[in-house]
Formats: sequence, structure tokens, C-alpha cells
Amino acid sequence: MTLETQPSEETLDTASPTNEAGKEPKAVSLQVYIGGEFYPEAEAKVSVFDHTLLYGDGVFEGIRVYEGCIFRLRQHLERLYDSAKFIMLDIPMTLDELTQAVAETVRKNDIHDGYIRVVITRGVGSLGLAPWSCNDPQVIIIAATIQLYAEETYTKGLKLITVPTMRNRTESLNARVKSCNYLNNILAKIEGHNGGCEEALMLDANGFVVECTGDNIFVVKNEVLFTPPVYLGALDGITRGFIIEQAREMGYEVREEPFTRYEIFTGDECFLTGTAAEAVPVVVVDERVVGDGKPGAITKRLIDVFRIKTAQDGYQVYD
Ligand code: PMP
Repeated sequence: MTLETQPSEETLDTASPTNEAGKEPKAVSLQVYIGGEFYPEAEAKVSVFDHTLLYGDGVFEGIRVYEGCIFRLRQHLERLYDSAKFIMLDIPMTLDELTQAVAETVRKNDIHDGYIRVVITRGVGSLGLAPWSCNDPQVIIIAATIQLYAEETYTKGLKLITVPTMRNRTESLNARVKSCNYLNNILAKIEGHNGGCEEALMLDANGFVVECTGDNIFVVKNEVLFTPPVYLGALDGITRGFIIEQAREMGYEVREEPFTRYEIFTGDECFLTGTAAEAVPVVVVDERVVGDGKPGAITKRLIDVFRIKTAQDGYQVYD
């Protein structure tokens, strides 16, 4: 089987960091943080015996920088520590130390608008599963630029299909844990791609809508916003939380309650949220046109608010 490559919403453009939109890419190698040192990207390596490579046993975060301001850094890092706690992995530095290391990595690469990937590996161990055979977990920080959906996607909207791969059951692998094991999402992503869609809708075993492969989902009906509760198996998205806050501040009712595809097909508006996608309108789901087939008014207002607030609501990296 061949998978055609197409622009993805989460493509790290590691070869050409830029410091401002529209400026010429700088022909410099990224400096990757691993365990307190910086390495040029070609030399940024961890052991093949690290259990994150062998088993996907590790945790990570994807974070955005807007105009030199890291969006909701503390919340991302708190989620990282919670994910690590769940899998009984001790991150070998404090949250404050990690905050400093993330900021330093952004500065070192002169990133003003970009994407940060923080990975905590389980460390090198024996070839068996046992995580207690591992020592020396690695803290990896990459700061780079990111290729988003085309601007047209935000103005015209995205098409989704529902895929057969169901979201992991909460009692098997709780989606609140942002682990390095993303095969559930990747299988769904492949099915979405095979069906001609850039993002795919995942359900649970009862047919309730859970989330997409890398994004949370919202439906708007009669000016009320609905999003699946995280206990159904969705990641507790930072962008999701931000949008809920903003929508409530704008006076909209937001309900976190289970719903099926019926509510999407018959909804007035639909949109996705995620660190890479930000807030993106959805206009077709499983060949049903949502609302009038155009990005909805409330969705557009929320996207506008998101774009204004991201550069204000965060951790300033540069003086
Ligand atoms: N769900 C999944 C499965 C994801 O991978 C992501 C991206 N991290 C999201 C939702 C959106 O979460 P956030 O807003 O924190 O990026």
C-alpha cells in the first residue's frame, strides 16, 4: 500500500525555520534540545533501545508560539506532567525547569511564530515491555515552523468522513493521556485520507461522536455550542478549553454532552479545534452539508477571537 503525501495540518517544516511570516527561510539547522544540551537536527538522536521507539511508551505535547508568545504553556506542561503521572513516568525536571528549557529552545531557534514539540521518552531498557527496566528518560524539545491547513480551509471549510476505527475506549487507553502511542489516531487518519479527507471523525462503540484524529469537535445548534465530554474518549484539548471559555464569555451556552452524527448533520454549524488546526470550520460531514455549507457566523466570530487572543494569552519568550 502506498500513502500519498499531502499537506497535513501538522507538518513540521524542520528544514526552514522562519522568524516572521513572509520572510525568506533561513538556511540554518534547527537546534534540538535533548537532556539539557542542544544538538543540530542531524545529530539529534536517541537510542533505538528507548522504549518510546520500541513501544510508543512516552508522552508528548504540541504547543504553539504566536508573535513570540507561547500559547497556554503552563496548561500544556501541566497536561504533560499529568500524562506522565498516569503512565508512571517521572519527568526528570521540574515544571519550572521545563518551562525555561522550552523558552530557551524557542529563543535558540529564533522562532516567533511556530510549533513546539516536547517529548518525554521512557528511556533505554531491555527488549521486553517492562518500563521498570528503563532508565534515563529523555526530555526532547523541538521548536520549528508548522504548515497549517491552507487559508482557504478556514474561509471555505473542511470536509470530514466518519471512519470505522473507533476511538480507544477510556478504560483501555484514556485519551486524556497524550501518549506517544498514536496508532489509534493514525489508523483513522489513514482511513480518512483514503476517503479523500484531511481529517476524520471518530466515534465510540455506542455511536457517540468523540473527536477527530488530532482535533476536538464542536456543533452549534440554535446558538448553543455542543462538544463531546472528555470521558467519552476525547483529549481534553487546550484549544477546546480556550474556545469553551471564550464562547461563554461572549454569552453563548456551551454544553459538554454526548451526541451522535445526527446532531452534526442537522446542526447549524460545526468546527474543529486543535493546537495545529486552531479553529477550523467543517461544512460537509459524510456527504451531508452542515448548515448552509459555509463557515457559520459563530464559528467565524470564535476564529477571530482566537486569532486576536493567541498573541496576548501566553508566555512571552523575548524581552
Ligand atoms: N484530540 C487529539 C487526539 C489530538 O491529538 C489533539 C491535538 N493535540 C487535540 C484533540 C486537540 O488538542 P489541543 O487543543 O490541546 O491541541
